[in-house]
Amino acid sequence: MKYVGNSTMRKNMRVCPSCLHPFTKRELGEAWIPFSLKCKGCGAYIHELKVSLSLLIPGLLFALVMVELAEWLQEQIAPILPIIKEVPLSLIIVVCLGPLYYGAIRKMVDFTYKNGRFFVRKR
Ligand SMILES: [Zn+2]
Repeated sequence: MKYVGNSTMRKNMRVCPSCLHPFTKRELGEAWIPFSLKCKGCGAYIHELKVSLSLLIPGLLFALVMVELAEWLQEQIAPILPIIKEVPLSLIIVVCLGPLYYGAIRKMVDFTYKNGRFFVRKR
């Protein structure tokens, strides 16, 4: 194992199931959609299904709540700022609810990183 001794290596770091090359939470987060992370060690694609699938339903519900919230916000702002009706809902979500959205994504990535069962598909 040539990566032992690397200063960025931590005890709780997840590794590629195929070659044991560690990958970071950040790398996992960036590969969130679609969920397949390319290993920098051996080039295999690392997958995780167990936790990702269990988060899919709450994730979808969360997305629905975000849309509802954005519509509600739009209605609240409309009397003061009528132009808000011209603003696409997706933009309202990004601007007003963005921190919430990214916070939730980060939590999901965190959870997957800690509890996920990673596997590689042999090519
Ligand atoms: Zn690997």
